[in-house]
Amino acid sequence: MAGISIQNVYKNYGALNVLKEFSLDIADGEFVVLVGPSGCGKSTMLKILAGLEPASGGKILIGDRDVTDLAPGDRDIAMVFQNYALYPHLTVGQNIGFGLKMRGIPKAEIDKRVREVAKILAVDHLLERRPKALSGGQRQRVALGRAIVREPRAFLMDEPLSNLDAKLRVHTRAEISALHKRIGVTTVYVTHDQIEAMTMADRVVIMRDGVIQQIADPDMLFARPANLFVAGFIGSPG
Ligand code: ADP
Ligand code: MG
Repeated sequence: MAGISIQNVYKNYGALNVLKEFSLDIADGEFVVLVGPSGCGKSTMLKILAGLEPASGGKILIGDRDVTDLAPGDRDIAMVFQNYALYPHLTVGQNIGFGLKMRGIPKAEIDKRVREVAKILAVDHLLERRPKALSGGQRQRVALGRAIVREPRAFLMDEPLSNLDAKLRVHTRAEISALHKRIGVTTVYVTHDQIEAMTMADRVVIMRDGVIQQIADPDMLFARPANLFVAGFIGSPG
């Protein structure tokens, strides 16, 4: 089992117990969605996974490696947030290759990987442009490209579609799913939108007040919600 293993993770902010005994095993290549109402602890869990926030207790393995005490840069993950900030003074190609350059990878190798990723994301005709000359959807693809070009072990996304209008949201949702099918990288995706969760996930983790309510694939969640909260949240007759 070389995906991600989250073992008894909990998190307190002072007296506030934001995550209570969160345990989840994610298979290599799986697309898991954490979903639940605002404030239930989704972003906190993702930040702990990324190493941006320490857990108060518990253990995290990524690809069989204990990363609990490692810095974000040592965890072999890439994270995409809702505001896809690109470097305005760099071209699309330079934006995608930025992380590789920081790691001292030779220019010829960077150019090759940037071109490959740009092709996958259909921005290969835009490599010389600056971000301000792109549409919202194109900018988003460049931000995704910047994350996947590093070939991370896992991909973490926190509400990546929430700043988009409805039409672009549906389009980008499909694009992220297609990208996942193509590169198959283990993904943990956070959203408060149950439709997004049910359409994108291999498995869905339903959270409420820092507690996992159910972990199941979308069909099972709909057919057999574990409790009334789950039934109400996903809108099944339950
Ligand atoms: P979600 O992403 O599901 O909306 P969060 O993980 O952002 O929820 O927040 C969970 C709870 O933790 C909320 O009650 C929030 O107010 C609280 N919280 C988040 N970050 C901090 C912080 N840095 N300090 C104190 N409380 C926090
Ligand atoms: Mg959040």
